[in-house]
Amino acid sequence: MTLDKDRFPIAIKPSEKMGNMIHISWMLHNQCNKRCSYCREFNWNGDSGWLKYDQIITFVDKVINHSQKDLYHFSFTGGEPVLWPQFDQLCHYLKNKGCEIGLTTNGSKSISYWENISDTLNWTCISFHPESSNEDHIFNVVKVLANKSRVSVRLMMHKEKEFWDKSVAFGEKLKMADDCSFIFVEYVPLQNDFGLHSRPMVYENWQREFLEKENHFTVLPTKDVINTHRRDVWDYTTYFNDGTSEFCRPNDLVANNQVNFKNWICHIGLDLLFINHRGEILKGACKQGGNIGHIFDPNLKLPTKPQTCGVNFCPCATDILIKKHRPGYFDEF
Ligand code: SF4
Ligand code: SF4
Repeated sequence: MTLDKDRFPIAIKPSEKMGNMIHISWMLHNQCNKRCSYCREFNWNGDSGWLKYDQIITFVDKVINHSQKDLYHFSFTGGEPVLWPQFDQLCHYLKNKGCEIGLTTNGSKSISYWENISDTLNWTCISFHPESSNEDHIFNVVKVLANKSRVSVRLMMHKEKEFWDKSVAFGEKLKMADDCSFIFVEYVPLQNDFGLHSRPMVYENWQREFLEKENHFTVLPTKDVINTHRRDVWDYTTYFNDGTSEFCRPNDLVANNQVNFKNWICHIGLDLLFINHRGEILKGACKQGGNIGHIFDPNLKLPTKPQTCGVNFCPCATDILIKKHRPGYFDEF
């Protein structure tokens, strides 16, 4: 994608079919079995410990009983969320309650583990980390899950050529996957100091050109490869000042430095709750609007108004994919 500096986003909006949904994005804990060099220790050192299963179920039931939403979508991150010993039990509980479940994982658990929970998942985002991921294992995990849930694979694009090449090669291997439903694959630019103060990684020219030219593809059941995204998971549209619009791809916006939404009106807190590894509830990963309570707080009150954005970098895809607009545009939101 070529960046036109005079063309800038003015709104991000969900499609009608997504309905009145709340997305509960839950960092279950901060323990991980990997130590990626581009990850902060905060994301893997495990100092949060484990939450108790009964406490989590009590909170889940409270959200479902008290919110006025058509759909409850729980998505889990970590650390590596599936390391929590009761994660499979929680998935089956939520599935029985009619909730949707999404999961971001490094895919390292055994094939039998994935077979056990594959029926409960609506989508799975598998990150391929070239410093440590085993290509054959991840390939088999993708094949198990892609026949039951929507699978996307995030190829982490390391700046070092050895690891860059490994991610590119794994992408080529995925293009040859058979016996699979759709697989969406993204080449993901890394961020420096991932988290609240993250900034786009500075790549070599040839790497930037690659990421601009070939940043995603979809593998179809017919083994055809198309250069587009299935619009059925997170169907958001980015609207631009020149009257154009396009399917919202957060990584494109990050890569093009188009995630400065300062002073925009953002629906975090209404359409999104973010629960951190300590059980504290925030409106979004960006922490705008501050801490609004704890999952075990008996007097918990959820937000009723949107948030005015006060920062100049929207840090993660989950936050980017929440309804928001620049004041003066789309004020009918
Ligand atoms: S797998 Fe993810 S959470 Fe774990 S160390 Fe790597 S980037 Fe961090
Ligand atoms: S940083 Fe937070 S408040 Fe600002 S646009 Fe992103 S999600 Fe919304």
